Amino acid sequence: FSKWFNGLERTRKQTFGRISSLLGTSEITNDTWDDLEAALIQADMGLETTQSVIESLKATVDKEGLTHAPELQEKLREELINRLDPAPESLIPADRPAVILLVGVNGSGKTTTAAKLGKRYSNEGLKVLLAAADTYRAAAVDQLQVWADRLNIPIISGQTGGDPGAVAFDAVEAAKARGTDLLLIDTAGRLHTRFNLMEELKKVHRVVGKALTGAPHGVWLVLDATTGQNALQQARSFNQTTRVTGVILTKLDSSARGGMAFAIQRELHVPILFAGLGEKPEDLQPFDRNEFVNGILA
Ligand code: GDP
Repeated sequence: FSKWFNGLERTRKQTFGRISSLLGTSEITNDTWDDLEAALIQADMGLETTQSVIESLKATVDKEGLTHAPELQEKLREELINRLDPAPESLIPADRPAVILLVGVNGSGKTTTAAKLGKRYSNEGLKVLLAAADTYRAAAVDQLQVWADRLNIPIISGQTGGDPGAVAFDAVEAAKARGTDLLLIDTAGRLHTRFNLMEELKKVHRVVGKALTGAPHGVWLVLDATTGQNALQQARSFNQTTRVTGVILTKLDSSARGGMAFAIQRELHVPILFAGLGEKPEDLQPFDRNEFVNGILA
């Protein structure tokens, strides 16, 4: 079994799995559509996306004159795959240093994701620098520091309570001076004072752009797949603040709500770049839409 098949077990068994039995043997009737719609909503695909999927499938069924429900299963698979952007050929922009801002709320898995990405790209031979710009949480800085030490990746961090913009600026300057290939900046994610968080993110974004023209080259939003439609709200507010260029969906292995990937895709129109399929560094996998859809539908 692949990492994907194992990692997506909950979504497959608890939500999308219903669809296979639903479309098992019968003729396509109005009930088929109602049941399919209910199953997709239950799978956390969101109302709009669900309705749009159903409409599109109905059109296909009409056009091709399909009558057997099992034929619908294959059409659904194609439809779901096509709803997701294919992953870009290269995730890291060609610019050197390439600067990526990691954004997302606390608990989404942002800090561990920064470390896992650092490991992946240093294994690929890139010179990586991490920056801990979440100066509000001493624990976040410490956590990234521990990872950085363990993985032997250099890190720039500020004092607790210091200016996150200043940390980001210093990190970009250091990346330029040291010939870094990839700078990953972990930003703050506290939820309760959301306005300030968003203002601060804008500032970090601006400062990074001042330190290096064209930077940041990517803004990657880390979303916790266990939070379902809440993640959609987060995606909206982060995207309004700093245009998100890619999504990282963590904790898919702990979630039955994998259907949210389609809602997020519809909302943001940017590719999902990585999927978190477990806690180990190698469980963070480059997103593959075929593996994903096959893993949830089986
Ligand atoms: P942050 O507050 O956003 O920086 O979140 P952390 O990076 O501290 O992660 C919060 C928790 O989620 C940690 O215990 C991580 O090990 C865990 N986590 C992150 N990604 C995944 C994943 O893909 N699967 C599972 N099961 N746990 C994850």
